[in-house]
Amino acid sequence: MTAVRGAEAVVDLTAIADNVAALREHVGGRDVMAVVKADGYGHGIVEAARAARRGGATWLGVAFLEEALALRAAGDRGPILSWLAVPGERYDEALEAGVEVAAYSTAQLDEIAAAGSAGRPVAVQLKLDSGLGRGGAQPAEWERMVAAAVRHEAAGRVEVTGLWSHLACSDEPAHPSIAEQSAAFDAAVQSASDAGLEPRHLHLANSGAVLRQPDTWHTLVRPGIAVYGVSPFADGSNPVPLRPAMTLRAQVALVKDVPAGQGVSYGLTYRTEAATRLALVPLGYGDGVPRHASNRGPVLVGGRRHRVAGRVCMDQFVVDIGDTEVRAGDPVVLFGDPSRGEPSAHDWAQAAETIGYEIVTRVGARVPRLHIGAAGS
Ligand SMILES: *Cc1c(COP(=O)(O)O)cnc(C)c1O
Repeated sequence: MTAVRGAEAVVDLTAIADNVAALREHVGGRDVMAVVKADGYGHGIVEAARAARRGGATWLGVAFLEEALALRAAGDRGPILSWLAVPGERYDEALEAGVEVAAYSTAQLDEIAAAGSAGRPVAVQLKLDSGLGRGGAQPAEWERMVAAAVRHEAAGRVEVTGLWSHLACSDEPAHPSIAEQSAAFDAAVQSASDAGLEPRHLHLANSGAVLRQPDTWHTLVRPGIAVYGVSPFADGSNPVPLRPAMTLRAQVALVKDVPAGQGVSYGLTYRTEAATRLALVPLGYGDGVPRHASNRGPVLVGGRRHRVAGRVCMDQFVVDIGDTEVRAGDPVVLFGDPSRGEPSAHDWAQAAETIGYEIVTRVGARVPRLHIGAAGS
């Protein structure tokens, strides 16, 4: 595949397994739900899930039922929660596949219950909107949804296995909203308990909170980006030693000499200051390299850090390598492991004014994934 495309995303499954193990230890052995939505944040959902299980993830989390069913089709038999549905969702298929689903409203819970039957309940986890203002039931609706859950449980149509919510600012440690959302969640758990619901799983923490907010851990944590070794924080820090799982690299397609004053790439936004050499890299925004990182994105080539020269194109970009020893066919790394001197996904996020999540997740389907490491079989 490398020979065909000249570029690949190398995914180290040992890093994923080790990261999950490190996170699990960090949260004192609580259950870990490794989030593998969006093709495992671009790393390959099936491979990432297998590696996460090997590292000790008792749960897998996905956004869509299709993702959960893909995991089942690949042989995964462990607990999976799928949390984003639209009306008409095939809850019968979730039930058949043993995939747990989320209820965001009383109406949705009724729809879920309709797929269950006395003695064959659908496992459902009730979601509170504790302040993110995205999915989940508002506190004002919570009591009604809980009452409906109690009714459907008594009829044997659903089994409430969890209560959960999602944080707005876990990437900003000690942001006041974290305590406010925690308090709202605690109150919702209490009112569910008063109504007679005592589900086994209570969960709130995504990566930022898993790493820095122990009071949010409850019985289960839901790390996503940390599983892949990318920091959720704006400063790129990682209080738990994690290894980046993905390395995005390519082979230099062409090296050539150019004179001073040579314009480079569409719009001629870069001009060489002196006679120099340019290296052509066969990756572009069609592969997920952000065009917004034009003239900024860092690469490691010929043992040195350089920046993208000019605009990132659909299939390619150019690097002004000066006197760095580089030949066509040499490797160029866009991001990988900074401990090997490579730029990080976080560095690219800064260059593109986005977050590391987007950098790894948007690596395009045209880039072959090469899975390496102990969990690869
Ligand atoms: C994506 C997602 C997560 C994981 O978030 P990270 O910040 O990547 O750890 C956890 N929970 C929900 C509901 C999500 O949508």
